[in-house]
Order: sequence, then C-alpha cells, then structure tokens
Amino acid sequence: MAKKISVGIDLGGTNIRAAIVDENGAVLVREKMKTPREGGAQRIIHSIVSIMHAVLRLSKNSSKDIDGMGIGMPGPLNSETGQIAFMPNVSGFDSYPARREIEKQSGVRTVILNDADAAAIGEHRCGAAKGKNRFVMLTLGTGLGSSIVIGGKPWAGQDGYSTEMGHIPIFNSEDMCSCRKRAHSESRLSIQGLFTDYSNQKGSHLQKQSFTVQSLFELARKGDPVASGVVERYAEALGRVICVAAIMLNIRFFVVGGGISSSFDILKHTVYQVIDKYGFPPLTDNIVIRKSYLENDAAVIGAGLFVLTDS
Ligand SMILES: [Zn+2]
Repeated sequence: MAKKISVGIDLGGTNIRAAIVDENGAVLVREKMKTPREGGAQRIIHSIVSIMHAVLRLSKNSSKDIDGMGIGMPGPLNSETGQIAFMPNVSGFDSYPARREIEKQSGVRTVILNDADAAAIGEHRCGAAKGKNRFVMLTLGTGLGSSIVIGGKPWAGQDGYSTEMGHIPIFNSEDMCSCRKRAHSESRLSIQGLFTDYSNQKGSHLQKQSFTVQSLFELARKGDPVASGVVERYAEALGRVICVAAIMLNIRFFVVGGGISSSFDILKHTVYQVIDKYGFPPLTDNIVIRKSYLENDAAVIGAGLFVLTDS
C-alpha cells in the first residue's frame, strides 16, 4: 500500500517553507519563498495556497493524493477551532478563521498549529527529542517560539493556546517587543533585538540589507568586541528563559531550533553559565540543551505529521 502523504507548511517571519511529507517524516520535496511583508492576512493565505500547489507540482501529485495540509503559524491560535487570536507584525489576523479560509481557497483539509509546536512534533518523532516524552522546544529565529511537550504532545492551555515564552516580561527594559509591549523576552531574543542592540552599541543606524544575523555572528566569532557583547546578551537572555521554564516545569531537556540555533556553539557557554548563576537547584541542575537535528525542516515535518496522525 502506498504511504500516506501530506503537505507541511511553516509560516515564518522571514520565509514560508513547504514540503511533501510521508508518514515516517521523510521529506519528498521542499520549497520556500519569502514571507510577504505587505498585504496582511489575505496575501499570506494566498502565498500558503500557492506554495502548496508548488510542492504538489514538484512531487507530481494532485491535491487528491494528499491526506491534508498542516500549517505551523506564529502567535496564539487554537488548533481545534482553526482560529488565530492575532499574529504579531501581520495585520488582518485578529480573531481570524484561518483554517476555514485556507480550506475554502485550497480545497484541501487543513490543520493549523503553533509553529513551535510543529517543530517540537518534528523533533520528537524523528529528530533531537526522539524518545523524550517531556521536553521544551525553543525556536530562535525572527522571534522566540516555544513549545512544552508533556506525554509526547505539545501542551495546550485553557483557550487552546500553546506557551509563549517569547513574551515573558523578565527584563527591566524599554525595548519594544514584536507584540508592541515592552520588557518581553522576545525584545532581546529576536533578529530585531540583535540589530537594535548592535546599532545602539555602534551609535549608528544599520543598513539591514547589508547586515545580517550571519554577519553579526561571524564578527563575534572573529572576536569583534561589539558583536561579541551583543551575542553575549542574547545568550544571557536565552539562559534566563531556560531557567524560567526549568523552574516552572521541572523539565531538564531542551531543544533549540530556528535559524539562530545554527550558532548555538558560541551561545552555549554563556547560556549554561547563566543557568548556573540564576538557576534554582536541583531543578536547574544537569540541564541538557540539544541543537535541532531537523533544522529548517523541523516545523514542516511536524506540521505534515500532525495532519497525518493527530487530526
Ligand atoms: Zn511580546
């Protein structure tokens, strides 16, 4: 019998990624496009449907050959109702019936889930958290995503929402978060946070086109004192968030994913130092932080598997 397949999509702040995924979590084809900056919810939905068609074409399948589409999306949303509460930085998603709209436009059975939950499902089934039924996933990218897996499933709270550790008000800071509030962890643990810190230190406005996160980490690797300080503060913020999670949950196993996790080797030392300095033993003793195995595929695999096996 042919294996069941689905479309997995990861709607990120920078890219939309899509893949055809089979029931073992293997990626058959993949595609990506830039996330549209203008046009709000309608444009995003249109892009999702068009990238779905692109991976179907690439894999020579039609929408009838797939068992559905799973979409990992940022922000508070409810998988059961298919409704998004709101999406930071994108207009038009307030109380938005995303699942219904996408099904209407694509003609394909759709499930939406939090993007960090999608990444956690991917890592749990076939990545860095295989065999771990209790762990925390943190996605370090445009912002900070989080998922708490308990009993092998991502935790959903009273309103069906996942956890949002990017918005814990732990800093005595006036920096603006993507959600427009201040002092939140994501105001530092985000690409914008890195750029803001770097340009504040340099006392100049950065030309974002010519300055990337990769170039910042590259400068830090070469020992540039300003870049090293910025990376150090990012690592310190991450260490604090991990402390909060470990102390609240008594969970010791963490997986870090997302684009910035590829530089985890230079963050690691400070992260562990901060846990040691600010932690609460024994809850913060022997914490293990593992880098994502699936990297950029984690959320597309997790979203694709979720629609095949959990819905
Ligand atoms: Zn926030």
